[in-house]
Amino acid sequence: MSLLDRIAEQVRACTRCRLSETRTQAVPGVGPEDARIMFIGEGPGRDEDLQGEPFVGPAGQKLTVLLRNAGLAREDVYITNIVKCRPPDNRDPRPDEVEACREFLDGQIACIEPALICTLGAPALRTLVDPKASVMKLNGTIMQRHGLTFVPLIHPAAGLHQDAMQEPIREGFRRLGEILAQRA
Ligand code: URA
Repeated sequence: MSLLDRIAEQVRACTRCRLSETRTQAVPGVGPEDARIMFIGEGPGRDEDLQGEPFVGPAGQKLTVLLRNAGLAREDVYITNIVKCRPPDNRDPRPDEVEACREFLDGQIACIEPALICTLGAPALRTLVDPKASVMKLNGTIMQRHGLTFVPLIHPAAGLHQDAMQEPIREGFRRLGEILAQRA
């Protein structure tokens, strides 16, 4: 069993925080261990909690299309979240929940050693890059932190709630496509 599989097993058995009490199942992450790009969202929603896989609900369907537009196939990237269990009623994950899950996320990043990490939404950006960062300002830009390379992106779910967010979301992924083309 690979180290990444072992982390997934630990995630599924985890009771480190209160989210374990209300989840149907934990959602460790999906994708190849040698993925060059990692996408990190906020936390599982209802569909993800039921299916055990990240980004399979409406936001996930949007993500799949946005990835394709950036020249990426979903099967080639690794997808996970900063917390691996669904926060009740899809509330924001609390700082102690993010902290309790952090070791799993850091372990996944260390296993995969991605060339690029795309954060999806403010919570992932603020957890991994800078607690004060603005996702609207940094959307689709490239930045280095802690020896890792990040591209912050607006969360695809934002477009499901606000039509005005559709264009900035697409623009972020368009810029990601350009960054990838330049680095190829
Ligand atoms: N939103 C997220 O941030 N993660 C998921 O897995 C699904 C929706």
